[in-house]
Amino acid sequence: MTTYVQMFQQGSKEQKGLLGGKGANLAEMVRLGLPVPPGFTITTEACRWYMTHGSAPQELTAQVDEAMARVERELGRRLGDVEDPLLVAVRSGSKMSMPGMMETVLNVGLNDETVQGLARKSGSPRFAMDSYRRLLQMYGRTVLDVDAALFEDVLEEAKKERGVSSDVELTAEDLTAVVGRFQQIILEQTGYPFPQDPREQLRASIIAVFESWNAPRAVVYRNTERIPHDLGTAVNVCSMVLGNLDDDSASGVAFTRDPATGAIGAYGDFLVNAQGEDVVAGIRNTRSLPELEQLMPAVYTELMDIMHRLEMHYRDLCDVEFTVESGKLWMLQTRVGKRTAEAAFRIATTLVDEGVIDEREALTRVTGAQLTRLLFPRFAADAPREAIARGMDASPGAAVGRIAFTTAEVLRLQRDGESAILVRRETNPDDLEGMIASAGILTSRGGRTSHAAVVARGLGRTAVCGVEAFDVDENAGEIRVGDEVVARAGDILSIDGSTGEVFAGAVPVEPSAVVQSLTGEIDPDVAEADELVASVHRLLEVADRARRMRVRANADTPEDAARARALGAEGIGLVRTEHMFLGDRRHLVEDLVLAADEFERGQVLDSLLPMQREDFVGILRAMDGRSVTVRLLDPPLHEFLPDLTELSVKLARQEAQGVERDAHEEKVLAAVRRLHEQNPMLGLRGVRLALTIPGLYGMQTRAILEAAAKLRSEGLDPRVEIMIPLVSSVRELREIMPEVTAVRDAVCRETGMDLATSIGTMIELPRAALRADELAQEADFFSFGTNDLTQTTWGFSRDDVEAGFFFTYRDRGILLSSPFETLDQFGVGELVRIGAERGRSTKPELKLGICGEHGGDPASIAFFHHVGLDYVSCSPFRVPVARLEAGRAAL
Ligand code: ADP
Ligand code: MG
Ligand code: MG
Repeated sequence: MTTYVQMFQQGSKEQKGLLGGKGANLAEMVRLGLPVPPGFTITTEACRWYMTHGSAPQELTAQVDEAMARVERELGRRLGDVEDPLLVAVRSGSKMSMPGMMETVLNVGLNDETVQGLARKSGSPRFAMDSYRRLLQMYGRTVLDVDAALFEDVLEEAKKERGVSSDVELTAEDLTAVVGRFQQIILEQTGYPFPQDPREQLRASIIAVFESWNAPRAVVYRNTERIPHDLGTAVNVCSMVLGNLDDDSASGVAFTRDPATGAIGAYGDFLVNAQGEDVVAGIRNTRSLPELEQLMPAVYTELMDIMHRLEMHYRDLCDVEFTVESGKLWMLQTRVGKRTAEAAFRIATTLVDEGVIDEREALTRVTGAQLTRLLFPRFAADAPREAIARGMDASPGAAVGRIAFTTAEVLRLQRDGESAILVRRETNPDDLEGMIASAGILTSRGGRTSHAAVVARGLGRTAVCGVEAFDVDENAGEIRVGDEVVARAGDILSIDGSTGEVFAGAVPVEPSAVVQSLTGEIDPDVAEADELVASVHRLLEVADRARRMRVRANADTPEDAARARALGAEGIGLVRTEHMFLGDRRHLVEDLVLAADEFERGQVLDSLLPMQREDFVGILRAMDGRSVTVRLLDPPLHEFLPDLTELSVKLARQEAQGVERDAHEEKVLAAVRRLHEQNPMLGLRGVRLALTIPGLYGMQTRAILEAAAKLRSEGLDPRVEIMIPLVSSVRELREIMPEVTAVRDAVCRETGMDLATSIGTMIELPRAALRADELAQEADFFSFGTNDLTQTTWGFSRDDVEAGFFFTYRDRGILLSSPFETLDQFGVGELVRIGAERGRSTKPELKLGICGEHGGDPASIAFFHHVGLDYVSCSPFRVPVARLEAGRAAL
């Protein structure tokens, strides 16, 4: 018989897969001897069973009964006891943290009778009724699927009648009436009365938590966070501690350090006389931790002590949820807390300085994805601007966009190519899609621990929360300060998530300090004084020492090459030569295609040669002393020729107007017709083009080597590698190699220089990967072109896929992320592995690199390390990210 239930005291933090993060960490706190209310965890395995079978496993009921009995014995109170009822919380919690995405039902065990017992026992009928109305509300909404607004309206009305603004001010009588109305709503909406049997409440709540794993917002969240859909959630049944008992009770959340900046010192919010959900919901304005010290000094000291112990135990920033019941502190949750990118870097290096972790471990605490965020621009320091309001600096960054009050508006702006700032009083989990699609988030209520803040930090969105001066009127589509309308839907707003400032209009942005410090645009001493910049530099150095893979950049111009070098590129992995044929030189390509014979073609190539040479001189100079891999021409030809339809229309119109036909244009039209392809990406490109236009690759080779010779004669050290694209068969290589090597040898003879140049090939077609052992007989090196390799392996056109069915595929979980962004390790990656292995079976020393977009993708780089590539090459901007990830992969 499978055991689906485990008491808190039996588990540990290592069991996240089985117990979920919340359950595992509750268990860990029990092991540490911290005050945790007794309870047990139903494993994720039970949820997975539920998902596949549509019902809970048979043995679960008995196991839950037994665990419940143990809790009852421990506390000396029983579920459903009319004199002294035990109440429990039924809480979700999966392996990966999904804050607020799933359901929790509090106060399970109350009914018309036990609520009286609770009132007598506690001496507070008000508190008992408040707890009961919370149960009805949460149970109604999450277990019975009753529209939450129905309950909220009743509560609002009760407050209005009483003339109060907060539910704490409602009396026992008010709440008794509210409870009656809530029960009526449940009866009307479901056709059944609220279940009075506590066991039934417990059973149904457990099922509701299982079900909440597949709630739409949870699915959306998993898609963006790339969390698999089949993990399932655990269910924690935890005896209730009552933060709403009296004014010596409270509920709160706290962080051991500031999760937005990483600054040292505990940080948190709490509410007196409240249950936990009130704090995150932003219903009442919360108080900050220092106030707890004044109100409940002993509790405060104990909490600080516990938080310190947790931080030492987990050796990282932790967040906690706590509740105080009549002056007694209880811990309800802890975990290694989410944090902004900025905080991640600062915390990692601070922990090193504090002697808690070493530098290598610090490197594991930051990711390339986080570093990417730090490379984004921020508001220009000297730009004129006027803050119209200020809130909490909830999630850093600079965001400019049009005001949208709803997710639908955000999505509409996004479709129009506009960026949006989602403005709301407070956000709730249903706003998730809008939060993802917006550039930034502004709320008028709630603090740094509010839903908006937590989610924004997780998503890397800029957020300013608790802008209390703003009266956000979503219905009227306006923001007011007092009586004055300061902004309307569609107006442009700029928000600074690092300072909490809000500006009207668009404030100009400037590059990040991290980038500027790396490129030397700001003074090193100034840079070092910035704690964040210093942390990034330090961890990049650790990564540089640790990594085996080299990092190169893809660059087509001397400027890009210089920038890449400044950011730490150790070479260029891909110079695309087709850009050099665009613009003014385009007609030369046209001439090349139209050339009637070898002589004409030779003339065109001769005129291209000096231009190409100058291009290469610039790039090789910028990368002096470091390898530069030049890819010979690989364009789909249609990119250079006029569009067939346009040209036909133009000629037809001229004919209709009686204009004499232009002989040249006639010729072009004929050529365009001849070369027209239904699917140019699979057509006349790369080596195929070279084999149809003899002399083309020879000319490029000459240009490259003459450029190298020129620099050599200046005393420089150019290092070129020549790369043949779109090869699928060794025969293609055998056909083209003589043209390239003959020119190379000729230039060496003419200049009297030994311009040692390796000539390699790209592996970007499945056949090339499969036949890599043969290709390695001819090629000096391989560079994996994973963009084309992905396109041809999946059969997805990379120009169309992201616009079309990709979203359907993602929503249905067929793809977790775009394979063009993050390498598909199982399919495309398998071909990379095969290509590497087979290539090296022929030439053990074969140099291997990757030059597709994936070379700079934080989630793909470790894979390239593990299959043994020598380097990754990516866009200059991503070079620091690749350095960091290559270092992490090698740990
Ligand atoms: P989430 O995963 O959304 O944080 P939780 O399961 O932590 O959901 O529950 C939400 C809130 O309910 C918590 O912040 C906590 O304050 C409150 N809560 C949970 N369990 C208990 C309990 N045993 N006693 C009192 N309050 C609880
Ligand atoms: Mg929680
Ligand atoms: Mg390619």
